[in-house]
Amino acid sequence: MTTKTLTIGPKIQTALPGPNARRVLAGDEKFISPSYTRSYPMVAKRGRGIVVEDVDGNEFFDFSAGIAVTSTGHCHPEVVAAIQRQAAELIHMSGTDFYYESMVTLAERLSKIAPMPGPHKIYYGNSGAEAIECALKLSRYHTKRQHVIAFLGAFHGRTMGALSLTASKPQQKRRFSPLVPGVTHVRYPDVYRGCVGGQQDADAFALGCARYIEEKLFKTVLAPEEVAAIFVEPVQGEGGYVVAPTIFMQELRRICDTHGIMLVVDEVQSGIGRTGKWFAVEHTGVAPDMVCMAKGIASGMPLGVCMTKAEIMDWVPGSHASTFGGNPVCIAASLATLDVIEKEGLVRNAQEVGNHMLKRMADWPKKHRIVGDVRGRGLMIGVDIVKDQKTREYANADRDRVVEKAFERGVLFLGCGPSTVRIAPPLVVTKDEADIAVDVLEESISAAEANR
Ligand code: PLP
Repeated sequence: MTTKTLTIGPKIQTALPGPNARRVLAGDEKFISPSYTRSYPMVAKRGRGIVVEDVDGNEFFDFSAGIAVTSTGHCHPEVVAAIQRQAAELIHMSGTDFYYESMVTLAERLSKIAPMPGPHKIYYGNSGAEAIECALKLSRYHTKRQHVIAFLGAFHGRTMGALSLTASKPQQKRRFSPLVPGVTHVRYPDVYRGCVGGQQDADAFALGCARYIEEKLFKTVLAPEEVAAIFVEPVQGEGGYVVAPTIFMQELRRICDTHGIMLVVDEVQSGIGRTGKWFAVEHTGVAPDMVCMAKGIASGMPLGVCMTKAEIMDWVPGSHASTFGGNPVCIAASLATLDVIEKEGLVRNAQEVGNHMLKRMADWPKKHRIVGDVRGRGLMIGVDIVKDQKTREYANADRDRVVEKAFERGVLFLGCGPSTVRIAPPLVVTKDEADIAVDVLEESISAAEANR
């Protein structure tokens, strides 16, 4: 693969899946857990920038970034070099029982970009779910309270604690109960669906979603002094790329301040530049108490981080730790990722290319009867596919068809929520590359529309 191919576009030269892909799929079916949620038979071999080549030599534009992970693009040379250098020096020592300098170096770096004033403290885990587990346990520990509030549509991970907060799809929870008790889910301000028919002003609706907590929950079933934390995604990811209005986030902050509750923002998907700011919560001006991050932080190496205001992380040795969390190689990848993001101006690029894409897609609800809504921030954009623009009924099968058709044309998107196409390319994507993907997506929408 050369850089030249990046500007030409996807190159599909076999039927999909190709012969080598079919061999891998057969092995996968035999050995691999069927719990994974593959949308189409893409068998990756190597990647560079926004291009992923499959095992049959087909080249795809990756507008999923391995589910919003490969922020600096696939195998950015500086990230690769940092991983190689670190692997030759020290692969593991366990920050739980020993010290190494890079744990501190990365913490200092993250503290500088934190969405709340410092000083800060940082916990290292291996995944988004582990960052959430930390926030869940810590919020209980610090406040000595048992209950937490989360939102319908939320996705916070699949470990038992994180899963208790998740409320995105029934199959994620079916047959796994009993989960961690003490979680109450309330409505997330999905303005597009909440204000169907335009009966209600969007801000009033969003404010109502937040006020329900204080005016209904706290006056009926949940004593506020027993609530440790409110967990919220400033942009719901798996739930459908739904943006929380500023007024909603501000009201959550007010409620938390009034009742001594921790405001935890889950930026596992939206953080580290994806939305055109380091953290999506910054678009709202709200300062959280804790922020969880993972996906984009190390360009594909496993690292989860829970960062809090320093005084909140007041637990004692042994109360929480993980053998591999903050592994030296992952930290080296993360430091290189942050360097590349800063040096190449990728946060600004996410904003600019994202705005360019949103502008190009803004009239789709007028042009395409199956497109209900186009929304997002930066390079976290959702295209909502509907059965009927008036009722805004979800069109899950049509959405899946759109995603499949784009795959056949060489662009990788994923679905999210009941009927949204998720657009989340690496932050290095150019406007030219974005134009190619937008064209392919529109063709795929037209094809799905014609098939209906
Ligand atoms: N939180 C959010 C917002 C996510 O999008 C995800 C994963 O998609 C998680 C938490 C869980 O992360 P992981 O899959 O790394 O455990």
